[in-house]
Amino acid sequence: MLTSNSTLSSEALMELENQYGAHNYHPLPVVLARGRGVYVWDVEGKRYYDFLSAYSAVNQGHCHPRIIDALVEQARELTLTSRAFYNDGLGLYEEYLTRYFGFEKVLPMNTGAEAVETAVKIVRKWGYEKKGIPAGEAKIIVCGQNFHGRTISIISFSSDPNAKGQFGPYTPGFQSVPYNDLAALQAVLDQEPEKIAGFLVEPIQGEAGVYVPDDNFIPAAAALCRERNILFVADEIQTGIGRTGALLRICGDCTCAGHCEQQATYTRPDVLILGKAISGGVYPVSAVLADNTIMEVIRPGQHGSTFGGNPLACAVAMAALEVVRDEKLTQNARQLGNRFRERMQELVDRFPQVLSKVRGKGLLNAVVINDTPDSKTAWNMCVSLAEAGLLAKPTHGNIIRFAPPLVITEDQLEECCDIIAGVVEQFAAN
Ligand SMILES: *Cc1c(COP(=O)(O)O)cnc(C)c1O
Repeated sequence: MLTSNSTLSSEALMELENQYGAHNYHPLPVVLARGRGVYVWDVEGKRYYDFLSAYSAVNQGHCHPRIIDALVEQARELTLTSRAFYNDGLGLYEEYLTRYFGFEKVLPMNTGAEAVETAVKIVRKWGYEKKGIPAGEAKIIVCGQNFHGRTISIISFSSDPNAKGQFGPYTPGFQSVPYNDLAALQAVLDQEPEKIAGFLVEPIQGEAGVYVPDDNFIPAAAALCRERNILFVADEIQTGIGRTGALLRICGDCTCAGHCEQQATYTRPDVLILGKAISGGVYPVSAVLADNTIMEVIRPGQHGSTFGGNPLACAVAMAALEVVRDEKLTQNARQLGNRFRERMQELVDRFPQVLSKVRGKGLLNAVVINDTPDSKTAWNMCVSLAEAGLLAKPTHGNIIRFAPPLVITEDQLEECCDIIAGVVEQFAAN
């Protein structure tokens, strides 16, 4: 039996969080103490499959030894210098990352929201300096039901009343169009194209409930932007790094794990935003990638972060990306994702009174529960799944997202599908 650092029970630890922490989350009642690969253990030693993967930050599996070694080795040498000086990790990392994803430049940050903010700043400045938008009038088009983070500017263009309500006044300059609606996008882009600097989009909307757009939405949206000299900005913080069965979701159905701009299915964004699994969940690392003509609008003093590009982050992210390539995680996500949706579709067919739909790409999937959006069914099902040894979390409405670490094996995946089937049967019987 595995023991934790703490001698306190789950009950006691939950009570501590409840008493001393802000209530800005509503976690499932499970207290985790250890993780390895696809597994996590609670403080009582019970083992679970992790089907959230820290919102797809832990694609490489928990505590991957290569990534942890990189962290520990680098931590012994140098952790933080700030960007007031050069450090011996940053240049190598920047070269590695830009080659890995096929861009000329990267701007390193820490969290996803910071990277989105960075992209917004770059896009606006490009709009003024390169496109000639009149001062203070740059617009960025976003999509309804988006999730791009939690800062004031980002929630200013959220359509989620819970995320946005009572945090105003809001940052102006954003306009929303329905997701996956090319006609609506075109209409908005044609209103004042000379004042629109960029279009920011998730290639699959993760938080919203794993909404997969039509196959042509992303490429066609990018083409609409290109024709109007509007930057196409892809937020791949959740969809990137192998999660959807391609290195990036914008790679479409190509499995080459990068380096394939020639591929017909590849939609090259002007600005690419990465976070989460770029570090394997070991350390907060995010990045904005673009070519020189765009990135050069940012000059010394105009943007930065004390921790951005620190040696620890560089070492961790390089190791994490090596693991994705060496262990062929993209290919695994694609194969096992197909199998997962096949198994879930069987359940949807057998128990339509419980499940109405499964959707997703690779190992980013969601099962839609057949109940009203405000019912507790998805939550209750997640509690039962946890009791049965599998952790997942409801997302907006009655939807359960299933996103295991990409290191999951075929046997493990089949076992997990059996666990889910057992819980669904149990709900069907009640
Ligand atoms: C998680 C996420 C973010 C925000 O990342 P944080 O690290 O939580 O700030 C932004 N965009 C998308 C698509 C995400 O999934």
